Amino acid sequence: MTDKKRKHSVKVFSLFLTLVLILFTNTACGSEATDSEVNQPANEDIEWDYEADVVVVGAGASGLPAALKALDEGSSVLLVEANFDTGGHVAVSEGQFHSGGGTVDQEKWDIEDSADLYYYDHTRGTSINSRYNDREYVRSIANAMAETYDWMLDNGVKTLDVEPMVRAYYRDGGNDGDSVGRMTYVDASDWENTYTGTEAAGIGVSRPLEQTLHEEGAEFLLNYHMDKIYREDIFDGEVIGIQASYSPTILPGETEPLDSLMSEGNIEETKENVNIKANNAVIIATGGSTGNVEFRTMLDPRLEEYMDGLAGMPFSDQDASGEYAAMEIGAALGSLGNYTSVVGANITAPQRFGTQYGYGRGWTEDSVIWPLVRANGIVPDYDSLVIVNMVGERIGNEDQYALPQMDTARESFFDQALTGTVIDPEGDGNAETYGGPLWAIMDQAAVERNGWDMDAEGVLDYEEGYAFKADTLEELAEMVINKYHEDIEMDPEILADTIARYNEFVENGHDEDWGREETLVHTIEEGPYYALWATPSMHDTLAGIRVDGNMQVIDIYGQKIPRLFAVGEASGGMRVHGLGRVMTSGYIAGRAAASVDENGFATADTSLNPEYEGSETNDLTKTNKAEYFSDRGLSQETMTHSEKEAEIEEWEQDSKGQQDEDETSESENETGDNVFIGQSNDGFGGRIIVELTVEDNQMTDIQITEQSETVGIGVEAIEELAKQALEEQSADLDVISGATVSSDAFMDALNKAMDEAGL
Ligand SMILES: Cc1cc2nc3c(=O)[nH]c(=O)nc-3n(C[C@H](O)[C@H](O)[C@H](O)COP(=O)(O)OP(=O)(O)OC[C@H]3O[C@@H](n4cnc5c(N)ncnc54)[C@H](O)[C@@H]3O)c2cc1C
Repeated sequence: MTDKKRKHSVKVFSLFLTLVLILFTNTACGSEATDSEVNQPANEDIEWDYEADVVVVGAGASGLPAALKALDEGSSVLLVEANFDTGGHVAVSEGQFHSGGGTVDQEKWDIEDSADLYYYDHTRGTSINSRYNDREYVRSIANAMAETYDWMLDNGVKTLDVEPMVRAYYRDGGNDGDSVGRMTYVDASDWENTYTGTEAAGIGVSRPLEQTLHEEGAEFLLNYHMDKIYREDIFDGEVIGIQASYSPTILPGETEPLDSLMSEGNIEETKENVNIKANNAVIIATGGSTGNVEFRTMLDPRLEEYMDGLAGMPFSDQDASGEYAAMEIGAALGSLGNYTSVVGANITAPQRFGTQYGYGRGWTEDSVIWPLVRANGIVPDYDSLVIVNMVGERIGNEDQYALPQMDTARESFFDQALTGTVIDPEGDGNAETYGGPLWAIMDQAAVERNGWDMDAEGVLDYEEGYAFKADTLEELAEMVINKYHEDIEMDPEILADTIARYNEFVENGHDEDWGREETLVHTIEEGPYYALWATPSMHDTLAGIRVDGNMQVIDIYGQKIPRLFAVGEASGGMRVHGLGRVMTSGYIAGRAAASVDENGFATADTSLNPEYEGSETNDLTKTNKAEYFSDRGLSQETMTHSEKEAEIEEWEQDSKGQQDEDETSESENETGDNVFIGQSNDGFGGRIIVELTVEDNQMTDIQITEQSETVGIGVEAIEELAKQALEEQSADLDVISGATVSSDAFMDALNKAMDEAGL
C-alpha cells in the first residue's frame, strides 16, 4: 500500500470515528460539534496565504470551464492544481467530444436534438448507462450542454468538420443511451501534446481554455495538492477555504521539478502548506477516485490494488482527495449505482500489453514524463495469444476481450476476469474467489509474425515486473511473480497444460473450454515465451460527491453545503463517459458559484436557455413521450418500440447483405493471383489490413479491408495515403499530421503486401 493510500484509509477511519463520536455526542448531550473534534483550527486562527472569490481545485476538463465561467460572470478566480501543469486527464485524452442538446455542430449536420431528448436518452430505463442517473443532475446537464459547447468554441476550442456520430447506441449492441449523433472530435492541430508525445487531441480542449484564463486574469497555483476544506463547523456553516500542500513533480534521477508550459499569472510558491480563502465558493474539480483502492473497493470489492494501470496515469492521478475532503465536512456521495461498469469506459482491456500504463495509444519517448511511463508495450495480436490468470489458467473467451471498448459482449469476460479464480492460498480449507492480474502468453513465432522487437528499450517493462521472457513455459511460470499477489505462484505444470490444451483446440478448430472462435488461429509452441501484463485498467470515475442541479454539494442529511460545489468525475449523478458531461458540469458550477447569495447558496437558474431548442422543457404533466417529442418536431422518438426494432432489423439485413458481398469479393480475390494482402497490428485501433492489386509490376488498386482507426482523423489519413501510394507507386510516404500511428501502420501493412508481390 502506498503512503498516499495508507493516509486515506487512516483518514477514512478517523472520519468514521469522528462521525460516530459527534453523532453520539449530539444525540446524547445535545451539544454542538466543535472545531477541535474535526481537527480543524478555529477559523480565527487560520492564516490565509491567498484569497479569491472562487477557488477551483483541479485544472482539468471540468475545472478549466468552471474557472472561466466564474471569471466571465465577474468573480476573481484562483485555480489550485496538484500537477506541474494544467489539463488532468483531458490533456492526455483523445478529444472525442460527446455533446448534445442541439449544438452548433449538430445543427450544421441537420441532426435533430434537444435538451429534452438528451435528458430522456440519459434517464431511460432500458439503457444500463442511463437508468441509475440522478434526474436533477441530468436535467441540468441537458439544459446547459449545447450552450456550453457553443461557449467552449467561442473560447478557442476547435472541432473537426465531421458529422457528429452516435457513439454506440444501446439498441445496436452498444451501451450508450444516445439515440442521435452527438460525438464530435476536437481539432488540436494548433497544440503540441508534450505530455503524451503523441497527437492525443484532448490538449486542444485544455490549452485554449487555459490560455483564455491567463489572458483574462485568472491566477494559477500549480504544484499544490488540496488536502482539506475549511468549513465553519463540521456539519454546519459555510465553507470558507482550503488547505493545500506543495506537490512538485520531480522525475527519477532529477532534482528540479517539472515546469508548466504557460506561466503568466502563475503564483510562484514553494511553502509546504498554504491556506486559501474562498470569499464566495470552492469548486472541487479533482477528477474522481479510480486511483484510490480504499475508496473504490468501498463501492465494488473487485476493484483491488492490482488494477494499477489507470488511464491518464502517470500524468495525473485520481486519488479521491476531493471526495475525502468533502466527506470530512459532511458531504454525501451520489448516484453510487453507477460506480462500476464493466462495459464502456469504466473498466477496460488495455490496448497495449507488457506495460503498466497500457490504456489507449500510450506514450512516446517524446513525452516530458517518459521516465515515469518507462515502457509503451505492444498492441496485442489476439490471434497469437491466450490470457491466463495468476495461476496459469485461461479464465474466459479471448474473443470477448478483443472486442472494442463499447461492445457489451465484453461484459462476461470482465465479470469472469474479476472473480473467476477460486483458490485456497492459506491451505486452510477456506477457498477464496478473486480476480487478480491477467497475463498474455505468447511465443516467438507471434513475435516474428508481428515484427515486434521485444528487447528494444521502452517497449516492455521487464524491470518492474510487467513483462517476462523465458525459454520454456515452465521457466516462464516460475518467473511470473506479482507484487500484489506474492503469495500466489503460477504453477509451471498448469501453465504448460493450459497451453498444450489450447494448442489442441487450435488444431481441432474448436475451443471446448470457452468457445473461442474468431481468434482461435495460431498455436503457441515456439520458445522463447512471453508473459505480458494484460490486466484490465480503470478509466472513468462514474460516481462521486452528491450535488444538486447547480452542482452545489449536498450533505449526508440532504442539505446543501453553503459555498461548496463539485464537478466532473468528482461529482456523482450521471454515468456517461467524458468531456461533454464533465465540461458542462464545470460551466454550470462556474455560473452557480458566481451567483451565491449572502448565505452561500447558488441563485443561478438551471432551466433551459430559451435560445436553445426545446424551451417548453420541464413539462411535468406530459406522459406520452412519443407525442411530446413529435410536438417538438423530433422524429427519433415518435417511433414505437416495434417500429424501431424493424428499423434495426432492416439495418442488420443490409449489413448482412454487405458482408455476404464482401465475402464473395474476398474469395474472388483469394483466387486471383495478382492480389496481395498486408497486415499491421499497430494501428491506433489495432489491426489494419490492405489488399493490393498489382498488374504489370504496377500497383493498380489498394483496398483497406479492415481498420478501426479514429473516424474523421485516422480513417481519412489512411484513405489519403492509399491514394498517394498509388500515385507515387511507393509505401514510403510522409505521415499525415495528427494521425502518425494510423499512417505508420498503414504504410507497414502496405509494405508487407508489396513484399508479397515482390515489389
Ligand atoms: C487516456 C484517456 C483518454 C480519454 N479520451 C477521452 C475522449 O476521447 N473523449 C472524452 O470525452 N473523454 C475522454 N477521456 C476522459 C476525460 O478526459 C475525462 O472524463 C475528463 O478529463 C475528466 O475531467 P475532470 O475535470 O473530472 O478530471 P481531470 O480532467 O482529470 O482533472 C482533474 C484535475 O484535478 C487535479 N487534482 C486532483 N486532485 C487534486 C487535489 N487534491 N488538489 C489539486 N488538484 C487536484 C488533477 O491533477 C487534474 O489536473 C479520456 C481520459 C483518458 C485518461
